[in-house]
Amino acid sequence: EFLLEARDVHRAFGATRALRGASVEVARSEILAVMGPSGSGKSTLLHCLAGIYRPDQEEIIFDGTRVDTLSEAKRTELRRDAFGFVFQFGQLVPELTALDNVALPLLLAKTPRKQAYAQAAPWLERLGLDDHATHRSGELSGGQAQRVALARALVHRPRVLFADEPTGALDTLTGENVMNLLVNAAREEGITVVLVTHDARVAAYADREIVVRDGRALTTPSSAVA
Ligand code: ADP
Ligand code: ADP
Repeated sequence: EFLLEARDVHRAFGATRALRGASVEVARSEILAVMGPSGSGKSTLLHCLAGIYRPDQEEIIFDGTRVDTLSEAKRTELRRDAFGFVFQFGQLVPELTALDNVALPLLLAKTPRKQAYAQAAPWLERLGLDDHATHRSGELSGGQAQRVALARALVHRPRVLFADEPTGALDTLTGENVMNLLVNAAREEGITVVLVTHDARVAAYADREIVVRDGRALTTPSSAVA
C-alpha cells in the first residue's frame, strides 16, 4: 500500500513529449529522490504527482484516491491541505516579513489570525530563524530565504512535501544545511518527500532514488544507467 503512485503517466507540451509512460511508487514516510539529466521530465513528473499538471494519460493515486480525475477545485483543495512545495527559488513575497510568509498559507486557508501566527512562529524557531521573523523576506540571504520557504511548506503539516531542486540556487554548505533541516523535519513529522534533483550529493539524503530518462522513470541505480 503506497501513499502516492503514478502509473504510466504521459504528458506532452505541444510536440515535446515530456513524459512517455513514467511510473513511480512512493511509500509512506519515504524520502524519494528523483534524479536524471536536465530536460528528462523530472519537474513534469513532480507536477503531475502533485496534481498541478493534469497528465494526458495516466493514473495518479494519492492515499487510495485517483487524483488525476478530480475536478480542478478538488485538486486545489488537496494541494493546499495535504501537500507542501519548495522550489529552487523560494518564491516568497519579498515585501512581507519572514513570519508573514510562513503564516500566509494558513491565512489563505482561513485559519484565524492568532492561530496562524501561533503555528507559524515555532517553525521559524525550528529552522533557526527566530531572529529574522520580522525581517522583510526580500532582505534575507539565499539560505535564510530557502529556510523560510521550507517553514512555509511545512507549516500546515502536509502529508507529502514536493521539493524541486530546493538547493539549486545555494552554495554547497548552505545547501547541506537546508537539506539537513528538510530531512530532519520530514522524519520527525513522518512527512513523505518527493525530491527532484540532478545533484547526487542532494539525492544522498534520500532513502531511495529513481532516475528519469527520456520521460520514463527507472528504478535502476543511476550508476547502472550512466
Ligand atoms: P527536468 O525537470 O528533468 O529538467 P522538465 O520536466 O522540466 O525536465 O522538462 C521536460 C521537457 O518538457 C523539456 O524538454 C522541457 O523543455 C519541456 N517542458 C517542460 N515544461 C514545459 C512547459 N510548460 N511548456 C513547454 N515545454 C515544457
Ligand atoms: P527546473 O529545470 O529548475 O525544474 P525549468 O527552468 O525547467 O525548471 O522550468 C521552470 C518552469 O518553466 C516550469 O514550470 C516548467 O514547466 C516551465 N518550462 C520548462 N521548460 C519549458 C519550455 N520549453 N517552455 C515553456 N515552459 C517551460
